[in-house]
Amino acid sequence: MNRRFFSPAPLQIGPLQLTGTEAHHLLHVLRATPGDEIILFDGAGGEFSACIESTARKTVTCQVVQQRTVNRELPAELVLGVALPKGERQRWLVEKATELGVTRLVPVETSRSTQQRVKQQRSSTPGDRLQRTVIESCKQCGRNQLMDISPPASLDVFLRAAPAESHRWMAHPQDATSARGCVTPTIDLPTWLLVGPEGGFTENETTQAKAEGWQTIDLGPRILRVETAAIALTSLVTLPTG
Ligand code: SAM
Repeated sequence: MNRRFFSPAPLQIGPLQLTGTEAHHLLHVLRATPGDEIILFDGAGGEFSACIESTARKTVTCQVVQQRTVNRELPAELVLGVALPKGERQRWLVEKATELGVTRLVPVETSRSTQQRVKQQRSSTPGDRLQRTVIESCKQCGRNQLMDISPPASLDVFLRAAPAESHRWMAHPQDATSARGCVTPTIDLPTWLLVGPEGGFTENETTQAKAEGWQTIDLGPRILRVETAAIALTSLVTLPTG
């Protein structure tokens, strides 16, 4: 049984009441009973062990007993800017980016983006569909820090927001100036990634990105859909080697 549960309230040793989706999951999916041990995380890096004391129709009362010292985050900030696809493809991308450790996802608006926007622009709103996807993904993969989803930004704003001391990679197919082969997998600096819309980046956008210090990268001879390119590029810089 998946024993990890999210607490939107800050965690500390002592009694805690779980309500809402997490209580529902415990009570009606896992049939939790008093005495069961669970793990709680607060979405800000904290992980605690806890024991269920009592259950009611819609609430679970537990005793938080011990803080656990674990860090499953990447060594530096990883920001993924992407012209988000729609519907299920958007949800899939958010789930996988969370699993891979992306710190912040920024929906980027380019000149060829579709009009699709993230319905709920801030990830901190309870009940938001994408926020729920982030939480479920963290429960499954053991991450204690929620991936943040920023409000949409124009390409121009996103390109300029990357710090001067950072790695900046823009996925762009079939560009003679693109890096090929392996990107150094070490995230030794803040790392910013960018993936374009179905129609690709315009020549002006690519020129502007290069002028802002972004390096284009070719992910191979096949044209990947937006979400595939986003996860391929993220994997390239996050997965351990050796
Ligand atoms: N015809 C468009 C073009 O030439 O750019 C294809 C766009 S592709 C469906 C969507 C985005 O995924 C691209 O803007 C790029 O960021 C990324 N992408 C897809 N395949 C790629 C590849 N082989 N190499 C690098 N980036 C790729």
